[in-house]
Amino acid sequence: MKNLTNISVIKQLLEKYGFTFSKGLGQNFLINPSVCPKIAEYGFAQEGFGIIEIGTGFGTLSAELAERADKVVAVEIDSRLIPVLDETMSEYNNFKVINEDIMKTDLKALIEREFSGLKVAVCANLPYYITSPVIMLLLENELPVEAITVMVQKEAAQRLCAKMGTRESGAITAAVNYYGKAETLFNVSRGSFMPAPNVDSAVIQIRPDFEYRDKINDKALFFRIIKGAFAQRRKTLVNSLSSALGMSKGEITDVLEKTGLDKNARCEQLDMEMWTSLVNTFSELTGKQ
Ligand code: SAM
Repeated sequence: MKNLTNISVIKQLLEKYGFTFSKGLGQNFLINPSVCPKIAEYGFAQEGFGIIEIGTGFGTLSAELAERADKVVAVEIDSRLIPVLDETMSEYNNFKVINEDIMKTDLKALIEREFSGLKVAVCANLPYYITSPVIMLLLENELPVEAITVMVQKEAAQRLCAKMGTRESGAITAAVNYYGKAETLFNVSRGSFMPAPNVDSAVIQIRPDFEYRDKINDKALFFRIIKGAFAQRRKTLVNSLSSALGMSKGEITDVLEKTGLDKNARCEQLDMEMWTSLVNTFSELTGKQ
């Protein structure tokens, strides 16, 4: 296994392939040797598992995943990295890279095609510019995965893993809670990357858990309400939901009262049980079940 966190190995590769880091593609490669083995171990890279990796860089995490899992399929948008991976990943015949934008990848089809008979998990050091869209893509597809283990900016980690009903929560926290449970596994300092970003990072894990998906009667309505409420988080729910749902303030107040919520409630005060009751009350009233 090549030591891809070694600075002189990286410099040789940069020179040989004339590679320059693209800021626009979020290319901050890991150079701290202790991080990738930890992501792989927490992230279910083990016998019986196929791993989807998002964004390979030079293959630093890919190699750790391929060492441990039965198969690794990576999606990497930057075609300049494909010849580099041909070299750095040459010893792994259980590794395959698809040169594609993850946002355009049919992940359900990929899992069916590539991972027959295997359990599946997602691992990545995510490009930060698309953290939320990628996480939403993974969750909304309700992929048959055991876990999603990803490095994100520390602030994004705090929001993703926040408790509903607290200041730190947001629409994406609600989305995570709809599909599963999230936790922060460990923090990673900015000096662990080349080039170093100007923020620290954290590795989080989301495990599917359908408690709330099964309790909420109308998924589309849940997401409309959550997005509408958090888009105007400083306002009371009466105000934010009346514009988001096109209903009068009186109608929203009635629904809040029927749900047992204060008419001055704001989105940061509701835990998942309260959101569930609120959405189900709306759903019953509008006959949307
Ligand atoms: N895994 C490597 C590491 O840890 O050193 C690289 C991580 S780097 C933060 C993010 C990687 O995602 C880069 O290789 C970048 O080219 C790739 N990437 C950026 N946008 C992408 C997209 N839309 N689809 C797939 N890969 C993408």
